[in-house]
Amino acid sequence: MSQGTRAAGAAAASDVAAHARRRRTFAVISHPDAGKSTLTEALALHAKVIAEAGAVHGKSGRSGVVSDWLEMERARGISITSAALQFEYDDTVINLLDTPGHSDFSEDTYRVLAAVDSAVMLLDAAKGLEPQTLKLFDVCRHRGIPVMTFINKFDRPGRSALQLCDELSHRLDLQPMPLTWPVGEPGEFRGVLDCSDGSYTRFHRTAGGASAAPEDHLDARQAEVEEGAEWTRAREESELLAESGGTFDVERFLDGTATPVLFGAAVLNFGVRQLLDLLVRLAPRPEPRLDVGEQPRALDAPFSAFVFKVQTGMDRAHRDRLAFARVCSGRFERGMVVTHAATGKPFATKYAQQVFGQQRDSLDVAYPGDVIGLVNASALGIGDTLYEGKTDVRFPGLPQFAPQHFAVVRATDSGRFKQFRRGIAQLEQEGIVQVLRSEIRGDAAPVLAAVGPMQFDVATQRLSTEFGVPIQLDHLPYSVVRRLADPQQRATVDAGSRSEVLQRTDGAELALFNDRIALGMIQRQHPGLSLEPLVAGED
Ligand code: GDP
Repeated sequence: MSQGTRAAGAAAASDVAAHARRRRTFAVISHPDAGKSTLTEALALHAKVIAEAGAVHGKSGRSGVVSDWLEMERARGISITSAALQFEYDDTVINLLDTPGHSDFSEDTYRVLAAVDSAVMLLDAAKGLEPQTLKLFDVCRHRGIPVMTFINKFDRPGRSALQLCDELSHRLDLQPMPLTWPVGEPGEFRGVLDCSDGSYTRFHRTAGGASAAPEDHLDARQAEVEEGAEWTRAREESELLAESGGTFDVERFLDGTATPVLFGAAVLNFGVRQLLDLLVRLAPRPEPRLDVGEQPRALDAPFSAFVFKVQTGMDRAHRDRLAFARVCSGRFERGMVVTHAATGKPFATKYAQQVFGQQRDSLDVAYPGDVIGLVNASALGIGDTLYEGKTDVRFPGLPQFAPQHFAVVRATDSGRFKQFRRGIAQLEQEGIVQVLRSEIRGDAAPVLAAVGPMQFDVATQRLSTEFGVPIQLDHLPYSVVRRLADPQQRATVDAGSRSEVLQRTDGAELALFNDRIALGMIQRQHPGLSLEPLVAGED
């Protein structure tokens, strides 16, 4: 290698590291209706990406673009699509990965969390912690993803700031570390006290909240004069929190034992700037990712990425298959030919895209932390690694989650068995559903397993429209699943009237039970049964 080439290589590597340092890749976790779409729009708007709120997610009553890649999606008025929104703020590149917002939970939502470096937990001030938020929070904790908390809708009557902080510490065992404290009761939200310097930021409403909310900045003395008792109360309450361990500590945020907390109202753009500043200042940057051998892949190593989402049929005219991959190392350039680690085959990236909602822009370069959408990706499956260069790299597959819904699937037309098999294999590879089998049930009647029942609807729709295979689904009464560590014990579980063992394609033996009572009974009768939670930490 000539000296010039070596110098150019070193410059490119430091360039990649510098680009990676500028990235913040996160997702918003929340329960439906907490305000995720509103907050997404407000963040993007504040960063001036879109001129008018409503251009990102089309929801009824807003002037947005409704993604309509599936008839079903349109019929239900929901967005199943999920990708990343990228924008720049304060010299930082923010990648906001969208988590599907439907109340029917699906594995897609979980998998997005494999591709982020941090999460914003969004709470509705009137409702506090809700079921879907709790589930997503558990995944974050389990995966070691640091969580920031944004308490939304403080402009409406709801729980007090102290009550909400109390809920975080007691229900999640998570120390709240407020960075701001609301001034004015819920419903009379005027502004926030900055817990780091004691100053006051007062928000002003704008018509329809259509632009960044104007703010006044006052020192504590002036705030006391102008806000009187409300200011005093905010100061006293925030001091109370600080005394009970709520002083900001970055280590505790990163190790997942504490969460920085902000208060706001996304619909009015209140507190949105504070959240952007928090992301820039404190959200973790992309770090070297561990490969299957637990070796960190340096950020400036040649390009590598892993697929965390696969989507088919977004464009009905072309019925294309799009794979979303998170870049882990190197510089991605559109047109690059990379290697698909699972097959060793080359994969051309001529049409790489950046996708959010229905907007697609072609993407030319990407760095660690960014998400690329690859079209014509029929060979790519969930968890697959792509890389450039001669050294093989593989990242660990994405975790599979404990399914809670089970149904036997059969083709209603036995003449289309070949298509049925192909369709099931395809859905499994895309991670639409998990597929379980047993000798007793046979190949013509596998069991589909899902985290959320909507996954079944997607599977039914896809099999019928794409593979021409109408199917019949017979729901099974199981709701509790354990891993059977010793396959010799299969007969014991199968003998129970309310339990059965099925094998997942990855080889795991799953013992299914109607409910916890059925599980408890078998365990009492056979204390030697080796049943383990499917996902470590999951009950
Ligand atoms: P998502 O389901 O989490 O995406 O929630 P949306 O963003 O669609 O918001 C649900 C509803 O809450 C909508 O009617 C929003 O206008 C409303 N909303 C969102 N943020 C706020 C807020 O800060 N204050 C109030 N009062 N309403 C809000």
